[in-house]
Amino acid sequence: MPVSSRTRSIWLTQLLLGASILILAVLVFAISPQLLATWHFTVGSLVIVVITLASLAVPWAKLPRGAVLVLPFLDALAIGVLAGTTELRFGFLWVFPVVWVAIHFDVIATSAMLGLITMMMVVDLASAPTSANALRTIIVTLSFSFVAISVHQAMSQIRAYRRLQRRQARRLKATAIRQAELERQANELLNSVDMGVARLSLAGRILAVNDTYSRLYGLDALDLNQPGKSVEYATQRGMPVPIPDRPFARAARGETFEDARVWLFTPDGEWRALSISARRLGGADEEQSSTLLLVHDVTAITHAQRERERLVAIASHELRNPLTIIISTAELALEDDTLAPRMRARLEAMLNAGDRMLEMTTTMLSSSRAGQAAPAPVDEIDLRGILIDSVDSFRPSARAHDVSIDIRADTPLRAAVDAFRLRQVIDNVISNAIKYTPRAGGVKIVGAVLDDAVAVTVTDTGIGISQDDLPKIMTPYFRTANAKEKSGGTGLGLGISRDIVSAHGGTLTIESEAGQGTTVTVRIPQHAGADTDAAR
Ligand code: ADP
Repeated sequence: MPVSSRTRSIWLTQLLLGASILILAVLVFAISPQLLATWHFTVGSLVIVVITLASLAVPWAKLPRGAVLVLPFLDALAIGVLAGTTELRFGFLWVFPVVWVAIHFDVIATSAMLGLITMMMVVDLASAPTSANALRTIIVTLSFSFVAISVHQAMSQIRAYRRLQRRQARRLKATAIRQAELERQANELLNSVDMGVARLSLAGRILAVNDTYSRLYGLDALDLNQPGKSVEYATQRGMPVPIPDRPFARAARGETFEDARVWLFTPDGEWRALSISARRLGGADEEQSSTLLLVHDVTAITHAQRERERLVAIASHELRNPLTIIISTAELALEDDTLAPRMRARLEAMLNAGDRMLEMTTTMLSSSRAGQAAPAPVDEIDLRGILIDSVDSFRPSARAHDVSIDIRADTPLRAAVDAFRLRQVIDNVISNAIKYTPRAGGVKIVGAVLDDAVAVTVTDTGIGISQDDLPKIMTPYFRTANAKEKSGGTGLGLGISRDIVSAHGGTLTIESEAGQGTTVTVRIPQHAGADTDAAR
């Protein structure tokens, strides 16, 4: 049966006294055997031995804590018997019960012990009341009191210190639990994102990965630093990326980078297009900093991009043939000298529009072959030219719809723009205004310079746009129900126009009221550095 630490401590303390008594008895036997003849010594010693043996047999764990006090008090009594008639020479043995009680019990128990000892000394003094004995009694009492107080104080300090330690240990434990919980939450969060995340030490070892990373690279859960089962390729055909050039190896060398592209061939036999970035994570000190590897699976986007490029290439290529026919027919027709001037103007408008469409198809083709197009030219021009030209080309259509067009642009509208793209914007806005205005309505175009920006406002008296639809109007393919009834369209023009205007650092805003009309305002800063690359 396991023995409690309290029982063991009781045994040890009592055994210490028992052993001391046995050693004392042997020494007395050797040095002054006549002492053995006095009953005091033998009875006292025997009682202590009996108490010691009894202490080994008592089930202390089952008894209340105070019951242990019996032992030091019995010991003190036995020592009192043993010390009698020896002029307190063996009185020093009282130090055992005094220290015992002072260590483990309160002031009352300690005082009771000192009282008992003093009482026994006084009884002893009464049998031989000399002044030397009296002095000895006082000195012994004072000494024991001093020992008891010192031990008591030391123990109080030790207990306070232990309490402090326990409190700190509890706090430490609570902090550790909180820390573990935070770590668990962080891991859960990381595992719930569909982006692969790996944290590497500065020495290039994997410290942690999330589920997505582990799955993508086919890592061994037991040893993350074993090479994964997936292989990275630069393209879907060809050789694997050489190991030192792989994003992981680069990050392990401490490199940081954005959007490194690789094709990963996974253990499931799938190709995944990955966009990988490596960032430095600062720690409290250099040793704790690490590198974060972020892996985005861009397979779907890559496929969609390819498909879009393919479609654009096919569409623009297919458009070229009918366009060439329109242009060449218009050119042929224009060669006829007998043409009425109005007819000539219309044919020229058709020819110009055809030329622009042809140019657009060429741009679509080249921009679909990612990044191969040359930057678009930016010239400082007077936008009035574009406005007037565009309005002229829409006059026949406006007349056909019985919509009047009024243009006011009295001052030069100078700005650095990609003229071709700006024409696209103006054409789109004016064509919408005419398209969505019922018969007998009107479109008013005003060009002005306000606060260093060219502002072109196109106002119509048309069907307008409800407040519910207004926020969605730039969304690709969105068309209002009324617009669908009124005329054909794709729902792409406004979004593209807004992108072109933003790329010039400008804004395209729409104000409208259903049934009342619409005002579209295009603002282009006169001197802003146009982001022509984005304008493409
Ligand atoms: P599309 O004209 O080909 O439908 P747009 O992107 O140019 O595409 O316009 C998107 C939608 O915005 C139109 O379908 C129409 O519902 C609405 N819209 C644009 N301009 C006007 C306008 N001037 N008046 C009323 N509705 C308009």
